[in-house]
Amino acid sequence: MKENELESMRKSFKTVYEKRKQILNSPQTKKLQENVLAIKKEAIEHYRELLEIAKDSFKANDIDCIFAKDDIEARDVIYDIIKSEDVDTVAKSKSNTLGEIAISKYLKSKNIDVVETDLGDRILQLKGTDNKPTHPTGPASHLNVAQIASIVNDSMDVNVEADPKAIMKVVREDVLNRINTSTLGISGANAIASEDGSLVFIHNEGNISLISLMKTHIVVVGIDKLLRTIEDAISLVKLETIYATGSKVTSYINIVSGPSKTADIEKKLIKNMYGAEKVIVIILDNGRSEAIADIDDCLLCIGCGSCIVTCPVYNVIGNEFGFNNYLGGRGVAMSKFIEDNETSYNSGLYMCTLCGLCTINCPVAIPTNEIIEKIRSSSQKEGFYPKKHGKFRDNIKNRNSPY
Ligand code: SF4
Repeated sequence: MKENELESMRKSFKTVYEKRKQILNSPQTKKLQENVLAIKKEAIEHYRELLEIAKDSFKANDIDCIFAKDDIEARDVIYDIIKSEDVDTVAKSKSNTLGEIAISKYLKSKNIDVVETDLGDRILQLKGTDNKPTHPTGPASHLNVAQIASIVNDSMDVNVEADPKAIMKVVREDVLNRINTSTLGISGANAIASEDGSLVFIHNEGNISLISLMKTHIVVVGIDKLLRTIEDAISLVKLETIYATGSKVTSYINIVSGPSKTADIEKKLIKNMYGAEKVIVIILDNGRSEAIADIDDCLLCIGCGSCIVTCPVYNVIGNEFGFNNYLGGRGVAMSKFIEDNETSYNSGLYMCTLCGLCTINCPVAIPTNEIIEKIRSSSQKEGFYPKKHGKFRDNIKNRNSPY
């Protein structure tokens, strides 16, 4: 990342940090934190059972549920659905899981136009190159308003001033025009309420509401998002919002428990009123079950991004420290399971200072530094370690001195 981008990112992070201070220390937040930690631990421990319950509940709610063991399977399923619906434009919402399976790149290679509907993601999409996000809920945190205006003007051939509202208006109109004729939307989800057969989404922009009104709504969600009930899911998304933004709630919490229907005429059920005719959920493993078996704490994450806001390494070098959309030390840890030790090494396994600040600032206290140490131990056995370290080790052995 460029120095000016890092500066803008740090400024955005400082704003979030200051905004959250009071609410993080409130007794209500502390209580919520305890509840969510217990909910997540129980859910991770029983994820296989929850998966089976979710499959049955989705079926009962008329939601198609498909299990994908990896990114290839998930992409294939999505492409088959898109082909069967004969659409060439897809509306997409911000989602780390969709980033993980690189769906935009894949669909582009198949000549399908993917339109990001989240403003931050759309700005990065318009930027075209060097467009990795810098925060899970604020992907364009590293760009200032002048840079964003210039990206919009260059890519859309308009002349918008460097004013957030003016930029928002221009991008919104363009996105709405582009998805106007599309009938298919794709999103992630913040949680699955397994017993209820429901998907829970949080957002501020209203874009997921738009997607859930399209004819077909595809949802891609990891097995780590399986929870037991809607109540559990609401607790989790409230905590996520507090830690991510400092606000108590987002503008929207959508709960989708089936396709659109009505029984307003003689109590006879008719499908397809205003919302999606078809809701299809793809539940993705992609290394998560391996992570649960090996280091289950990895999957306690609720995706708030608090760890990177306070990480000394991330604040200095930015999104080079992390893997795809999974940023910072926890992203490095996940890359071992999504990919392998080599990827983890290349994502910054040895950049971490092991200071533990991320754990202190994590709502569910994920011991990322301990996880990183454990992964270092397994990666060095495969030869993935800074070679200078090996030289120091040999020098100490042979000469009682590292030098
Ligand atoms: S590791 Fe913790 S702080 Fe970081 S995104 Fe996940 S829940 Fe938030």
